Amino acid sequence: MSDNNVEKLVIIGSGPAGWTAAIYAARANLDPLVFAGRPKTVPSTVLPGGQLMMTTEVENYPGFPEGVTGPRLMAHFEQQAVRFGTRIVTDNGLHPDVSNPDDGHSYSFHDCQRVDLSQRPFVVVGEDDAQYLAHAVIIATGATANWLGLENEQRLARLGGGVSACAVCDGALPIFRDQVLAVVGGGDSAVEEATYLTKFAAKVCMIHRRDQLRASKIMAERALSNPKIEVLWNKIPIDVLGDQRITGVRLKDTKTAEVSDLSVGGLFLAIGHTPATAFLGDQLALDAKGYIKLKDPYRSTTSVEGVFAAGDVVDSVYRQAITAAGMGCKAALDAERWLAEQGVH
Ligand code: NAP
Repeated sequence: MSDNNVEKLVIIGSGPAGWTAAIYAARANLDPLVFAGRPKTVPSTVLPGGQLMMTTEVENYPGFPEGVTGPRLMAHFEQQAVRFGTRIVTDNGLHPDVSNPDDGHSYSFHDCQRVDLSQRPFVVVGEDDAQYLAHAVIIATGATANWLGLENEQRLARLGGGVSACAVCDGALPIFRDQVLAVVGGGDSAVEEATYLTKFAAKVCMIHRRDQLRASKIMAERALSNPKIEVLWNKIPIDVLGDQRITGVRLKDTKTAEVSDLSVGGLFLAIGHTPATAFLGDQLALDAKGYIKLKDPYRSTTSVEGVFAAGDVVDSVYRQAITAAGMGCKAALDAERWLAEQGVH
């Protein structure tokens, strides 16, 4: 903290972007304070640590030649941030509690409820209306993959039972090799994910609720001409079958209401993402889909000076842990330089 109980930097979000920003900021003596977020399961699963907490094996994060589980990777990020002095808002005050050597994870992290970016220092409001003042803020709240919201879909996703919302993250896992796989959605992501999965799968069924793809023409052509991809038109999944591992999907025809079962060894959701920006209200410039607009695409600056953004909350295209981490690094460096210009050290 700098002077008059004003934090130099508050970071909102605890995925790869948030923790990387914290590591860089802590090492630059900015004493960052992190709102890591409280776990939620409704309407979709949101966990401190972000999307990687729903990913089993991460095989494409550099530095882990044998792979690493998503939760373990995020625990490493957090530990590294804490090692350099990052503080996290929790039920039990600030973690780590330096006066308590046994301080652990026996309590929940807190959400940021809202921010007031119209005054300086900025006001960041936590749970129970606790107010924190901050000279600079980094927003790294991510975007959550949309799920269908089916009970068995969520259960099997949590179990690592072959249901995922990220083919690029999970598709190359051995459990999906030479299987018939299903991808739900008809947009560019669905086509991209289905095409990617054909490298490993015996066959990929795209399940789309209409009789026309939403994907761009060139991408749609790619799917329709791929001999390993079959599009099941006018279908929506109404249940996911299987106990410990997925065995199939129950489909309903959106035109005839006919119900049928499709045997699959994996299910991938590609029905869009929702950026976590609702808590900002209309205080920052957002694009039509709610992602934070950067002032300069090569930086992390936003429409409000002193507020920086990083990770999936600004990125509807790449959405990878490594790209989010890179953006978190940029945001911390931008915040550090901006704070120095303001005379905050
Ligand atoms: P999207 O364009 O919003 O498409 C989402 C798809 O999911 C749509 O086909 C939609 O059906 C379907 N859907 C949504 N909710 C559903 C539900 N509850 N049940 C069943 N189906 C549902 O999202 P996206 O594909 O993730 O693309 C997001 C943005 O990134 C787009 O601008 C896209 O062009 C871009 N992108 C580009 C590339 C590339 O160029 N390489 C790759 C990926 C993404 P309807 O069509 O019926 O609405």
